[in-house]
Amino acid sequence: MLVQLDQAKNFIDGQWRSALSEATMESFNPATGEVIGLSPKSGVEDMKIAIAAARTAFESSDWKSNSTRRSDALMQWAQKLIDRKEELARLLTRENGKSIRESRIELSACIDTLKYYAGMARSVFGRSINLSATSYGIIDKDPIGVVAIISPWNWPAMLMIREIAPALAAGNTVILKPASRTPLISVALVSLIDGVKEFPPGTVNIVTGPGALIGNELALNGDVDAISFTGDTSTGKTLMKQAAEKVKKLALELGGKSPNILFADANLAKAIPILAKSIFITAGQMCFAGSRVIVHESIHQQVVEGLKIEAEKLKVGNGIDEDTDMGPVISESQLQSVLQYCEIGKQEAKLITGGKRLTGGIYDQGYFLEPTIFDEVPLESRLAQDEIFGPVLAIQVFKDEEEAIALANGTIFGLAAGVWTQDVSRAMRVAKKVQAGTVWINSYNKNYPQTEFGGYKESGLGRTRGIEGLMEYTETKHINIEFDE
Ligand code: NAD
Repeated sequence: MLVQLDQAKNFIDGQWRSALSEATMESFNPATGEVIGLSPKSGVEDMKIAIAAARTAFESSDWKSNSTRRSDALMQWAQKLIDRKEELARLLTRENGKSIRESRIELSACIDTLKYYAGMARSVFGRSINLSATSYGIIDKDPIGVVAIISPWNWPAMLMIREIAPALAAGNTVILKPASRTPLISVALVSLIDGVKEFPPGTVNIVTGPGALIGNELALNGDVDAISFTGDTSTGKTLMKQAAEKVKKLALELGGKSPNILFADANLAKAIPILAKSIFITAGQMCFAGSRVIVHESIHQQVVEGLKIEAEKLKVGNGIDEDTDMGPVISESQLQSVLQYCEIGKQEAKLITGGKRLTGGIYDQGYFLEPTIFDEVPLESRLAQDEIFGPVLAIQVFKDEEEAIALANGTIFGLAAGVWTQDVSRAMRVAKKVQAGTVWINSYNKNYPQTEFGGYKESGLGRTRGIEGLMEYTETKHINIEFDE
């Protein structure tokens, strides 16, 4: 590990480099407002050098053909992360604001994902089909080539590893463009592979800097074969238009407005704490945050009261304190954006708890919000439609199953949903009808490297995790062979 955690550099072709301009960006602790480190404010020329390095590594090393090497490399990365987990969890909390408990969970998920794809690297299977007495079709799986991975700040470690692990397992080389709010943790994760001889130089490159500038270069440069983007739906749309120029392969993991549907027979003792956790985790800055509760009228009041109690007992504070349940949001602008939604909510719905900035003491230095719940939110309200990306829950009420499904499907998003009932037939019926890439029945926020994840509708394109997540990073080739009788 040659780079200091608070003095990040670009890692290009196995070398640590400043931006050509020497310009830097500051990382802030959202809980205290303090500057905690610097990273390169790279430009297009820096990105071009990284793209060229990734291209050369793909063309000239044995990475794409040596699956044992790739498997060993990913396993070593996992082990290095195990050894440094606590130190990096603390950095993650300081840069992102999330609670230290969450940071540990996030890094454990990274380790699990690296291990899973270390195994999968040896199993990039194709198929074969017998076409006639003298011919076969071999359906082969090739790596795509140079893959750009653009990631957001909310789960910066996991969302980068979630893509890089399958991309590498499939034999690609990669360029990472982390979010400008969380470059330190992203560079720290990459620094773990410095000196690991199984990674040929140029296999993994990271370039920090402004997304619109250097992200744009990834979309336009002909030496980048595919882009994996995780972020806001509107940025995803921009990228899609840019990538169309060269018909680039594109995987998009975008926003959500995910509902939890509670039927009258739901186990509320189990559901209510999970529902509260599903919206207040990472201060609501989570793509599949359970940001809507759609509840049957017969249990409506009971659920509102239960959620209010859960919200009000959360300890909001600096994430580095072991007993903090919810940290700050990422920035002042994010906080102001969430407060604007609270104002809309106060006019269009019924405020149950929260709705304000927290002030006084440590709260004055950071971006702290009260856990907030609005009830009786009309479907057409922006509170029910927009991804707020903050600790704001919208409750909606239904009379029958049909109405519950209509409410659940009534947004442009389709990332995840929860269905809560003891009736297995109802659970399956509703799960089949809800337009979402993941449906949890009597649970929420259960994610595994081996189960696919992604969005219906404007929540994305393609799937991450699991076998499909690996196949996203492959090209399919039909090799047809005729032999003599
Ligand atoms: P964002 O779209 O602002 O930024 C994401 C990344 O894109 C950053 O690295 C940014 O620098 C880069 N970027 C910005 N403009 C770009 C451009 N024109 N070209 C190329 N790259 C560009 O998103 P964010 O605010 O960092 O993250 C929050 C969003 O991410 C939310 O909408 C959330 O739902 C979504 N998200 C989705 C998933 C998922 O798996 N579906 C997971 C986490 C977050």
